[in-house]
Amino acid sequence: MKLGILLIALLLAACAPSQESDKLQVVATTGMVGDLAKNIGGEFVEVKALMGPGVDPHLYKASEGDVQTLSEADLIFYSGLHLEAKMGDVLEEMGERAVPVTRTLPREELLDFPPFENQYDPHVWFNVHYWRQAAQVVLDELVLRDPTHADSYRQNAETYFKQLDELDASVHSKAETLPPEQRILVTAHDAFRYFGREYGFQVIGLQGISTQAEAGTRDVQELVNFIVSKKIKAIFVESSVPERNLKAVQEASRAQGWDVQIGGQLYSDAMGDAGTFEGTYIGMVTANIDTIVGALGDENASG
Ligand SMILES: [Zn+2]
Repeated sequence: MKLGILLIALLLAACAPSQESDKLQVVATTGMVGDLAKNIGGEFVEVKALMGPGVDPHLYKASEGDVQTLSEADLIFYSGLHLEAKMGDVLEEMGERAVPVTRTLPREELLDFPPFENQYDPHVWFNVHYWRQAAQVVLDELVLRDPTHADSYRQNAETYFKQLDELDASVHSKAETLPPEQRILVTAHDAFRYFGREYGFQVIGLQGISTQAEAGTRDVQELVNFIVSKKIKAIFVESSVPERNLKAVQEASRAQGWDVQIGGQLYSDAMGDAGTFEGTYIGMVTANIDTIVGALGDENASG
């Protein structure tokens, strides 16, 4: 009897795929997408994200190694809506294994993406409701590809959905501690328009929506006049965009007699370091709202 079991075990091992791990091999483009796959896949998936902290997805090109990694994956998740603007062809070559997590978002609700026509603003992860829908896409796809572990994926998703609901409520309540006239968010590029619409901020990006657009597209002087006239306390740099342009805005505002602060660094198109709280989606969103409220709120007034 024991020998029989051993034989069966040996036979099963021989039939298993030649991969070192029997986990589902998932590749994600951005850290945020990878984080979704980790949270919902849990112990049954191995997730590799191509883009690390500080990497700009608008400009990222797949290396030869990336193409190899993508070819070997069981499943590929990417953000979509042309966020990965330079990876379109590579992702297309991967066929149905490559899934955009923004697939089900209602297009009529999405913002435009000037100067591109017929494209949508891809920065949907800053509306937590939208990212919850993205999580649902990840769940559906994992269940489809690996039905054996469907129950586990559903349980993980249930837990994660609750955490996202709590996150959304906490961003709303923190935002509401600021008087409406102080809810003005000036950043390096226009990554926060969905955030602004959902949580009640007027949002102005110096560089336009995509970092592909030339810097200085927006009239710097116009922005400086706006900051000075509204007495905006702080403007924000971003982890994945060089800060020199915002420094120039700060200098010009000071020259007009208004000492606007650099309010800190926001995580826009990339998360923080792996292994830290900011290296998770929930952590990046939490860090951002705390940085924003801290710099624009009255408690932090520098006079
Ligand atoms: Zn962006």
